[in-house]
Amino acid sequence: MGYRIALLRGDGIGPEVINAALEVLNQVGFKAEFIEIKAGYDYWKQAGKPIEDGALEVIRKCHCTLKGPLLTPPGPGTYKSVVVALRRELNLYANIRPFKSYGESARPVDMVIVRENTEDLYSGLEFKVGSTALSIRVISEKASKRISRFAFELARKQKRRKVTVVHKANVMKESCGLFRSTFFDVAKQYPEIQADELVVDAAGYRIVTAPETIDVLVASNMFGDILSDVAAAVVGSLGLAPSANVGDDHALFEPVHGVALDIAGKGIANPLATILSSAMMLNHLGEYDRAKAIELAVDRLIREKKVLTPDMGGNAKTVDVAHEVARLANEIMARL
Ligand code: ATP
Repeated sequence: MGYRIALLRGDGIGPEVINAALEVLNQVGFKAEFIEIKAGYDYWKQAGKPIEDGALEVIRKCHCTLKGPLLTPPGPGTYKSVVVALRRELNLYANIRPFKSYGESARPVDMVIVRENTEDLYSGLEFKVGSTALSIRVISEKASKRISRFAFELARKQKRRKVTVVHKANVMKESCGLFRSTFFDVAKQYPEIQADELVVDAAGYRIVTAPETIDVLVASNMFGDILSDVAAAVVGSLGLAPSANVGDDHALFEPVHGVALDIAGKGIANPLATILSSAMMLNHLGEYDRAKAIELAVDRLIREKKVLTPDMGGNAKTVDVAHEVARLANEIMARL
């Protein structure tokens, strides 16, 4: 089948980690037409817009999207986040972020954060009244129900036992209160799965102190984003955390990390988050063996501890990791 994949290389370390993922995809025999979409900070500087015109129509015609991180300059006077707009326009309402300890680990972690992707403080509703700035936090019953259902369905499919809702309903009684109560309503339809809750600060503490007790977390947009970086630190590096943004009609795959300008262009970015995101993409497309080969290759690479980037204690370059994962995945593929 001829796949068409929209490709956004991104800013900062984006092009380096995307190249690595493309090499690995090629080595496991994944054939696709990659359709490049111009977007990002450099494109904005040249073209005066952060993403090329007509991009949405092109993306909609693709089977899915693979994307590197995009820079959104802080403060007013530039442009709004491209990925936040893509998530909203393509209705990619669920952001799935698996955190797994690969290789040998004293405390094996295997949790998934399911983050609501379309509303909350990312609504873009911000304004100033005099010298006071206001942001509107939008939480709807519809989106809360949809994401809770998504989390329970994911738990059922992956044979997981517990889904925990994250909130701060003791302070934000209306918005978090609605998110929480909707979750427990949906939970009634999944009696075989335990429904639990954690206040967001306690969730952060628990992810650090007892990550093995967490199975699936479901969170609103901002809490889910913050807790993801905490979980990434626990499994070893932001450079190891992949993600999928999924809706009913499209899916976009990208690393959890951002543009990491401090290491961009140095050739030392960890490409594993993007490589694992491409494995999530293969799973989504039903290319299970190819996805498995990549996951097993990453596991072997980490276990062997020979070819790792500096963030994981090694001294390898991005390209070395790409070559080694591609080689291992190719070898594993031949045996599957
Ligand atoms: P953004 O504003 O796009 O979120 P950022 O640089 O503020 O970008 P991240 O890129 O998410 O935030 O990461 C923070 C730090 O973690 C980086 O400065 C970098 O040192 C490290 N880091 C992130 N991703 C990687 C990676 N793939 N490999 C190695 N280090 C990384």
